[in-house]
Amino acid sequence: MSVLGPPGSGKGTQAELAGQRFGIACFSTGDLLRKAVREESALGGQVKALLEAGSLVPDDLMGKVVEEKLRRLEPPGSMILDGFPRTCPQVEILDRILERLDRKLHLALALEVPDPEILRRLSGRRVCRSCRATFHVEFQVPRLAGKCDGCGKDLSIRKDDRESVIQNRLRIYRSETTPVLELYRERGLLKEVQADGAVGDVAKRFQKEILQACA
Ligand code: AMP
Repeated sequence: MSVLGPPGSGKGTQAELAGQRFGIACFSTGDLLRKAVREESALGGQVKALLEAGSLVPDDLMGKVVEEKLRRLEPPGSMILDGFPRTCPQVEILDRILERLDRKLHLALALEVPDPEILRRLSGRRVCRSCRATFHVEFQVPRLAGKCDGCGKDLSIRKDDRESVIQNRLRIYRSETTPVLELYRERGLLKEVQADGAVGDVAKRFQKEILQACA
């Protein structure tokens, strides 16, 4: 299945929770690209500036990254794709990858969150660069302001969580990813989940859709 939704809609959180509950592997393209940037790999060098600007990585490069990941899935099983496909060409790329691997997309779950809520979520997000823990200035306040609860290191703001970059990411979501939702709607694969509110409540709605799709 694929999880779609604007930045800050909680795709990663919901994908992880569902993955844990149903024992399904999760693959976040955003996490993989951020890791490549941190590790200063060749891929990281290619995508660093795009990530920092909140722009999309070219479709053919994303296709290679996703295919490599799906081919290495051990044991071969179901997978939750978090953040792919994000453009109409990526939908076709995924179709071809799945055909080559003799696999099928069963469900596209889109998280819906109003723009003001997205801004509130992302502009308040803080991350620990050392142990990767995430906090929020309103919803998940660290015990000591500006310090990680886990390792005590300084918290920082992700470069793509600055307000101008958030606006760019939202604009791109509306122009590039909304048509993906329409494509999957036409194919009868799309389910939409209201994703404002408490994480646990969203998780119940999200996981109910997965159970219904598998019934
Ligand atoms: P995310 O964590 O899903 O919000 O992704 C963070 C960033 O990674 C995005 O703003 C893009 O720069 C890049 N990215 C992640 N997934 C894709 C994708 N499917 N296509 C293009 N760029 C992507």
